[in-house]
Amino acid sequence: DQLTSKEAIALEDKYGAHNYHPLPVVLSRGEGVYVWDAEGKKYFDFLSAYSAVNQGHCHPRIVNAMTAQAKTLTLTSRAFYNDTLGPYEKYVTEYFGFDKVLPMNTGAEAVETAIKLARKWAYEKKGVAEHEAQIIVCDNNFHGRTTTIISFSNDEGARKNFGPYTPGFIKIAYNDVDALEEALKSSKNIAGFLVEPIQGEAGVYTPDDDYMRKAKALCNAHDVLFIADEIQTGIARTGALLAVCGNCTCEGHCEQQQTYARPDVLILGKALSGGAYPVSAVLADNAIMEVIKPGQHGSTFGGNPIAGAVATEALEVVRDEHLAQNARKLGNLFRKKMNEYIAGSTIVNLVRGRGLLNAILINDTEDSSTAWDICIALRDNGLLAKPTHGNIIRFAPPLVMNEKELLECVAIITKTLKAF
Ligand code: PLP
Repeated sequence: DQLTSKEAIALEDKYGAHNYHPLPVVLSRGEGVYVWDAEGKKYFDFLSAYSAVNQGHCHPRIVNAMTAQAKTLTLTSRAFYNDTLGPYEKYVTEYFGFDKVLPMNTGAEAVETAIKLARKWAYEKKGVAEHEAQIIVCDNNFHGRTTTIISFSNDEGARKNFGPYTPGFIKIAYNDVDALEEALKSSKNIAGFLVEPIQGEAGVYTPDDDYMRKAKALCNAHDVLFIADEIQTGIARTGALLAVCGNCTCEGHCEQQQTYARPDVLILGKALSGGAYPVSAVLADNAIMEVIKPGQHGSTFGGNPIAGAVATEALEVVRDEHLAQNARKLGNLFRKKMNEYIAGSTIVNLVRGRGLLNAILINDTEDSSTAWDICIALRDNGLLAKPTHGNIIRFAPPLVMNEKELLECVAIITKTLKAF
């Protein structure tokens, strides 16, 4: 029997750890840009599982690829070769323009992998003394939830009472090229600069257009790896294949483009599977990836046959359906419409973002409940979004949305905001 929403929430409350505070809506079905709750009410999904469902819910091509592979071979572990991993590795490396990939499952695992890779590269290639490597990170970063990653978070909720913390990280201001240069000059032991091209969790904090290119150039000049965490921003979300592509309008990996701040290490997750399966990846060229030797890193599920089949299809969908172009076009329209609304609004201070990764800043304090209350009202009006940092609401619909649907969503959002 179908559970009611109330029953489903009661079960999670009783039997699940309380490590999340979900908006009270219980979803039981999804298709494209829509989800339905347990009672059959239909909503626009304006979060896309934190940008994992860029290709839309239950994309038939991705679901078919997954079920076909699931019926054939699911897991071999890396103790043996399997016949889907090699083709996937060839596909994903060519797609993003790197020599090699290291496949993992979740975003945090891929970030951990990149940290290990950068440290090992520093010791074995750059000549940093063992245990001395440092990685530069940014204030208000979000890279995941492992003990090492939360060690360099400045979100007290994410850190408090989870210590002792992993050393080896230097934190600098985000979107501050001078701070980066100073940190790079401060030590010969810097292995890498780990950065989000747009800080998603921090509230879609969007840096200056040239920040990534300048940061990359500084890293190059100091023989430091430029490590881009594109777990949330990557795979067409910001209107280009990657956010480090800048405002480039091609749909490939933009190798030739002036705007491209090519990372030395690229971290992907989320939409790499279209939200169908946990798939993450670390991409780098041979000179970096070759420091990892057999037995030095791995994962039982990383690179499994279902992951390879799903990720390949998910990336083909991005290309075939021109999702980067669509995100760019609809993102411009969304911000234009929101700015028109904001001009006469006292409740919203600004809209910011790139492509279809956007946020509005509510004119209230971080500890007020206004943004939450707005999200409840949006839910009642048929659109699902979630506050981040108290007074910011992120808007990140699936990239398969069309213009008519987007305008319908703008109408829901502005109507809802007018009631506050
Ligand atoms: N890095 C960034 C930029 C993210 O946005 C996230 C998740 O929101 C992660 C890393 C962690 O990914 P996961 O939740 O799959 O571990």
